[in-house]
Amino acid sequence: CGIVGYIGKKDTTKFILDGLKELEYRGYDSTGMALLNDEKIDVFKALGKLTNLVDKIENATLDTYPIGIGHTRWATHGKPTELNAHPHLGEYSYVVHNGIIENYKEIKDELISKGIKFLSQTDTEVIVHLFEDFNNRLNDTVEAFKNTINRLKGAFSILLISKADPTKIFFFKNGSPLIVAQGNEEGEVMFASSDAPLIGLAKKVVYLEDGVGGVSSAQDIEFFSENYSWNTLPTSKQFAQK
Ligand code: GLU
Repeated sequence: CGIVGYIGKKDTTKFILDGLKELEYRGYDSTGMALLNDEKIDVFKALGKLTNLVDKIENATLDTYPIGIGHTRWATHGKPTELNAHPHLGEYSYVVHNGIIENYKEIKDELISKGIKFLSQTDTEVIVHLFEDFNNRLNDTVEAFKNTINRLKGAFSILLISKADPTKIFFFKNGSPLIVAQGNEEGEVMFASSDAPLIGLAKKVVYLEDGVGGVSSAQDIEFFSENYSWNTLPTSKQFAQK
C-alpha cells in the first residue's frame, strides 16, 4: 500500500523507516525493507505494526547500505503473513509493489513450468522471477526490466533492486502512484508512493505519469520516456521547505 526507496550517502535505513512511518496512515497489514550494498542484500519483514519491523532492525547488525527499498502491504493476493510481506525475493533480486498484477496467474504457471520456485502466495512475486528469467537470458538488466514491465497487466508501482546491478533502482508506475525525487544532498535519489516521506528532503520532484519508468543510480536517472530527464525535473517549492 506504500512504497519508499533511497539511493545516497545518508542513513538509508533511517530514511526508509521514517518514510514508512509517514505512509502508515494509509493502513497496512505488514511491512518490510531490503537494503543493498555491493556485497549483499539484507532483508527484514514483519507482520503487523511498523514498530515490529523497527524492533527487528534494532536487534540486527547492520552494514552501510547506499540503496534501500521499503513497503507497507495491504494484502490483495495471499493472506497477511510475514512470508507474503514485501520485498519479494528471486535468486538475486528483490521487488516491492503496490497494486495488482492482473495476469499473475498465467505468468506464474509459465515460470513454474520452467522449474522456478515460488515462496509466497502474492501476485507480486511473479515480477522478480520474470525479471531474473529475462536477465538470465539477456544478461542486460535494463532490457530485462523493460521486458518484464511489458508482460504485466494491471495497476502497479514497482521498485526493484538486484545484485546483478547493485548501484541502481529500477522503477515503474502504472495506475498506482509513484514519485521520483532528487534529494537535497548531492548524489541522492528518492522514491515514494506519496509526497509525505519526501517533504523537506527533496529539491526536485516528479509525480510520474502512467506508463513511465526507468533506472536510477545516485547520479543519474535514465527514464524510459522522452518526456522526462534528470536535468529537467521540475523544482518544487512545496518540497523545498518543510
Ligand atoms: N497485490 C500485492 C499484494 O497483495 C500488493 C498489495 C499492496 O499494494 O500493498 O501483496
